[in-house]
Amino acid sequence: MDLLSRKMYCKMTDGSDSVCNGRVAEYVMEASGNTGRDEETLDWDSSSRKKQIDVKGAGVFQANPGHKRHFAQNVEGTSLAEAWKVFVKASSASNMRTVANLLWLTSVITFTLFYFFSKAITEKMLVRALKGGKNTKIVTLSGKKITKMPSSLDKLPGLKTLNLQNNRISKVCSEISTLTQLTVLNLGNNLLEEIPEEMKYLTSLKKLHLFGNKICKFASGACDGLQNLILLNLNNNELAWIPQEISRLKNLKYLSINHNQLASIPKELCFLKNLFELHLNYNQLICIPEEIKFLKELQKLLLVRNNIEVLPKGICRLKNLRILDIAGNIIQTFPSGFQNLKLREFYCEGNPLFLKEPVTAVQQDDVWSLQEITSRFIMNELSEKNPFVMQAITWHPLVKNIMSQRRKCAICGKYFLTIWLECVEFVPPSKKWKISRNLQLVPLQILICSYTCFNQRGPNLFGIAQV
Ligand SMILES: [Zn+2]
Repeated sequence: MDLLSRKMYCKMTDGSDSVCNGRVAEYVMEASGNTGRDEETLDWDSSSRKKQIDVKGAGVFQANPGHKRHFAQNVEGTSLAEAWKVFVKASSASNMRTVANLLWLTSVITFTLFYFFSKAITEKMLVRALKGGKNTKIVTLSGKKITKMPSSLDKLPGLKTLNLQNNRISKVCSEISTLTQLTVLNLGNNLLEEIPEEMKYLTSLKKLHLFGNKICKFASGACDGLQNLILLNLNNNELAWIPQEISRLKNLKYLSINHNQLASIPKELCFLKNLFELHLNYNQLICIPEEIKFLKELQKLLLVRNNIEVLPKGICRLKNLRILDIAGNIIQTFPSGFQNLKLREFYCEGNPLFLKEPVTAVQQDDVWSLQEITSRFIMNELSEKNPFVMQAITWHPLVKNIMSQRRKCAICGKYFLTIWLECVEFVPPSKKWKISRNLQLVPLQILICSYTCFNQRGPNLFGIAQV
């Protein structure tokens, strides 16, 4: 439909992508999964994610081939005493490069020692947990370099919390299906490639953390038994799509899929009627389904750094929406009615929003297609309840379907189908909104049926010039 639409007349913006440094800097931090907001509100990513980032930071040494060589020699033949001697020597000579290498060496030695002891510690902890048997409620084995989930989990039927984050687990063991009392499962920062089918047996599960894996798909049936799930954290994975079955997570309140590769979300996601927060930052979303209007409980919607061009009109029906963040998209206007949202916080930096800075443009002629002319005639006859046309339309479901895509002129109230004039109305944002600094006036999209109506518009309505 957009292909046939006509954008014309006298309003243009500079179209520049005015990124506000303050806010964007905040999002760069979030890209590393290191955000205070997530931790505060949702207990999403843990502080362990921070540690992982710190270790990555230390990797600058590896980036330098000279340092790498030096580092390799040190690991092979240096005792702690020798290392200390070199350290003193290096300090007195103010050789900062050697000091840096020694600091790096010290951390390597610590990690090596940790590696040798971690296995023994893990086993000891497991034995202790197993002694508890049915009474063991919590098992935490985070950062133990585990590659396989302990199969003895089936000896702990009363387990409520299982924390296996920061390991090297690539597969969920079948024994997990016996943990029917489990309410919290943390498998964040591992090597999983899919959300396994075994999840469906965890019927008591309330919080599922799968952030920082390599998940690219949901196994079929994975969502079937998770009727009690409240929180699902899939940040920092490789998901390119979400299955329709997501709608089976009836009690889901918090869903976070930041830093994935989603190009779209299924409309079934909008049937999660208890959803409270939806985080979809840093994906490749092009649009949001109109069905978003069904998320009646939604309070927080984060869509930062996607490729969204248009927000659906349905967003205006989210009566409980309080926080909306669409920074870093390609939005130019908002759907009409947007200004009535009861937002508390609204962020829209880094979008090429239309500004109220009119330029002069030449008015073009209206040329309607035959389809447009007949469609308008039929639609307007229908709106006047012409009995002949009303009866005829019931015999032609295809025509009825085409007519359902009609739109209404904001000036005369008549219908049109594929040709319109796109205009912008500027309204001041609500005083109750906490907003981005770049937003003085909210540009609302207004559609008009013809130049005849355009010439009767009010002073605050502007056409859009074609560049
Ligand atoms: Zn009109």
